[in-house]
Amino acid sequence: MQPPEDITARRLNARFGAAPAEAALAVALDRYEGRIALVSSFGAEAAVLLHMLSRIDPSVPVLLLDTRLLFPETLAYQQELSAHLGLRQVRRITPDERADPDRSLHRRDSTACCALRKVAPLQAALKGFDAVITGRKRFQTGQRAAMARFEHDGMRLKINPLADWTAQQIAAYFETYALPRHPLVAQGFPLIGCAPCTSRVADGEESRAGRWRGEARQECGIHFGPDGKVERAG
Ligand code: SF4
Repeated sequence: MQPPEDITARRLNARFGAAPAEAALAVALDRYEGRIALVSSFGAEAAVLLHMLSRIDPSVPVLLLDTRLLFPETLAYQQELSAHLGLRQVRRITPDERADPDRSLHRRDSTACCALRKVAPLQAALKGFDAVITGRKRFQTGQRAAMARFEHDGMRLKINPLADWTAQQIAAYFETYALPRHPLVAQGFPLIGCAPCTSRVADGEESRAGRWRGEARQECGIHFGPDGKVERAG
């Protein structure tokens, strides 16, 4: 499963690291045809990358981690947006809940909850894929500030087409293509994850303040940094 030497992250960054996001996405889709998937939260900003994908190849698998603790609005938005964009292969990935049948683990140990409901199901779902596309951006967290557009994630290539995008570019893209908004954005949720771990953000707060409020963490553990360590730090 190791990517061939001529398509390593280093070489792709050298050639396409500063290219338009759509171009970087198209290159990855072409080179990894049939072996690539996009992971989407169907959250506040997800429509941008999904729209780009739909314009290139709407049949590429899109994986939504349905932790069973998502907002019902997210599941409804997934249906609406998928239909709007003509996405043909949206797969809801669900956890094995036997270790947390009453769904209370997040109150005692949120890291273990993310491991059960996100990390393990995603690792299983990505078997058979050699490359994965994410919507992560550098401005989102300090941990992502130096994130490359193409990076290795274990044996897999990870593509972050929007790595260098700003919040203003995201907003402008929504306007340009009149993309539907997640319904919770208008209710004060600039970032949207699981319901128990997402709260409204007050005026003047950073957008990420609403995730895992009160905890010193900004990542759920499904992403790995360039050093191969799980991204968790605040
Ligand atoms: S974000 Fe919260 S509820 Fe969702 S998997 Fe992680 S700890 Fe559990």
